[in-house]
Amino acid sequence: MALLETRNLTARYGDFQALFGVDIVLEAGETISIIGANGAGKTTLMRSICGLLANQPDSIRFDGRAIGRLAADEIMAMGIAMVPEGRKLFASLSVEENLLVGRYGRAIAGHWSLETVYGLFPILKERRHSPATALSGGQQQMVAIGRALMSNPRVLLCDEISLGLAPVVIRDIYRAVPEIKAAGASLIVVEQDIGQALRVADRVYCMMEGRVTLSGTPAEFSREAIHDAYFGAA
Ligand code: ATP
Repeated sequence: MALLETRNLTARYGDFQALFGVDIVLEAGETISIIGANGAGKTTLMRSICGLLANQPDSIRFDGRAIGRLAADEIMAMGIAMVPEGRKLFASLSVEENLLVGRYGRAIAGHWSLETVYGLFPILKERRHSPATALSGGQQQMVAIGRALMSNPRVLLCDEISLGLAPVVIRDIYRAVPEIKAAGASLIVVEQDIGQALRVADRVYCMMEGRVTLSGTPAEFSREAIHDAYFGAA
């Protein structure tokens, strides 16, 4: 049984349909990447899984349970945490306070605590009393990841964590993935950087215009197939 699965998932913003029957599967221990151009529906898929958009009850299953109608806080309490696009840190709070917010609603024991998050990203310990917004973009992304980890999630959803960051910073952030996996989380990583997506993932899904157009292991993907799935076959 898959850890997390969407089946024929649709999503709308009013009259606009953003997802048309999306099927994805995340097995326990896996990292999957979702790639696709701007507007393909990647963020909408993440928001649907987190309970931020109305879903059909059976369209999302987590650990064998239909979660499509649960509220976002219930889904978080079950162990799905998101690192949202644009980080969405609390500007008036310090780094440490932002991390502690991640505990709210799921105070379960697990690997992740302030101490282990600081072990993962040591710079955050040095800057722990600074306002989160005083940090560099990469450091802010580390805070956003740390905040999500503080809930000790079983599934971590990462939406465009490399957006706007320099390659060396992106590498630093992705260096944390093996430790996050070792601590027991499975990951869904939304990436516009195809190379990064292929490097980090066990399996990749490509989306276009609200549909999955290609899925498989990175080794199975040819450049041409990705191009066609990303932009549409000529
Ligand atoms: P990006 O890389 O730009 O974030 P994405 O693949 O994450 O793209 P989504 O943000 O999921 O794409 O958007 C999918 C479609 O839904 C787009 O056509 C977008 O314009 C539309 N959309 C997204 N949010 C809303 C909203 N709040 N109201 C109306 N339409 C929306």
